[in-house]
Amino acid sequence: MAGEPQDDCLFCKIVAGRIPATIVRETETTVAFRDINPQAPTHVLVIPKAHHRDAAALAAADPALAADVLRETQAVAEAEGLESYRTIFNTGAGAGQTVWHTHAHVLGGRGLQWPPG
Ligand code: C5P
Repeated sequence: MAGEPQDDCLFCKIVAGRIPATIVRETETTVAFRDINPQAPTHVLVIPKAHHRDAAALAAADPALAADVLRETQAVAEAEGLESYRTIFNTGAGAGQTVWHTHAHVLGGRGLQWPPG
């Protein structure tokens, strides 16, 4: 069922504290933690605590929670002292999504090229 924790989901396990992560912010509905394979000096993932497989599913099932995630990307950027940053939702395997629990990448701390690869 949409939003319910999934036993086989890595990020649900981070939410539950069953696997470690370097958490930088937490709210009632979201967790933000450092990516284990950072692609920039700041690379933080913001996730909803509830399980939704990707950004589109989250927006369809719970728009208020999608807004919480977006607000948190800005809060992370501010906490990290970033004036400019990039927020990315990889959606679908062809776009590079590898973890099937919605996550916003917040990247900053270096120049970022456009378009991304
Ligand atoms: O967008 P995508 O699904 O590829 O992003 C998943 C991200 O989760 C990767 O950047 C990967 O480094 C990160 N990750 C993590 N901690 C884990 C497993 C994956 O930060 N335990």
